[in-house]
Amino acid sequence: MTEVSDTVTKSQQLSPTSELNGFSWWKREMSYRLGLLSSGEMQQFEYDYYNRNLPEKCQQCDKDLQWMLKYSPGVIFMMDNINKLQKDPSDSIANHITCDVCPDLQGGGFHPKYGILLCANRLQSKWQLEDVLTHELVHAYDHLKFKVDLNDLNHHACTEIRASTLSGECRIFNEIKKTGLGNFGKKFQDCVKRRATISVSHNPNCSSMEEAEKVVDRVWQSCFNDTRPFERVYR
Ligand SMILES: [Zn+2]
Repeated sequence: MTEVSDTVTKSQQLSPTSELNGFSWWKREMSYRLGLLSSGEMQQFEYDYYNRNLPEKCQQCDKDLQWMLKYSPGVIFMMDNINKLQKDPSDSIANHITCDVCPDLQGGGFHPKYGILLCANRLQSKWQLEDVLTHELVHAYDHLKFKVDLNDLNHHACTEIRASTLSGECRIFNEIKKTGLGNFGKKFQDCVKRRATISVSHNPNCSSMEEAEKVVDRVWQSCFNDTRPFERVYR
């Protein structure tokens, strides 16, 4: 699973259509960026931001997905390696990737039976879609290659560490934007750790954030250094 936000927006409703487009929307977006909204208005804006124009977002997601399957070197490389591990290599993983609207704050997900889900309402750019897709492809690869048992927190932590390391979600530029300049290597590792810990903490078998942190630390060395099928981390 790929986390995209820390904000909680539950059981809310979309604002009237007139508020979601054109000048009204522009005004709300500017006020949001300038910090002029009350906390209630801010929450409503964030909710609307993710949930307006859903049919268009699904179309865009499908379009970006097709582009990635054709042109993204990382996505193509991962797909080739996954297809080699499939029982039926003619049934490409590409046929098991779906764009849809997600109720939770996630960018995507992988399920051994249903394949890869991309959350059209959470993805804000083609490049974010590429990161999320690569992340989920790492899970698909691990599932076939290592027989991952997601009930086992060690397994779960390991595949999350690898997915965040290899997907580019923690590429250094994003981390500098988030946490400022300095100590690049450590920032990359902190980002991978943070993301893996949040994902593991959502596992029903995990009792707390502290337990998730412990599990991530326990398997860190071997999983962070295992970059298969890549020779090394490129971003
Ligand atoms: Zn994940």
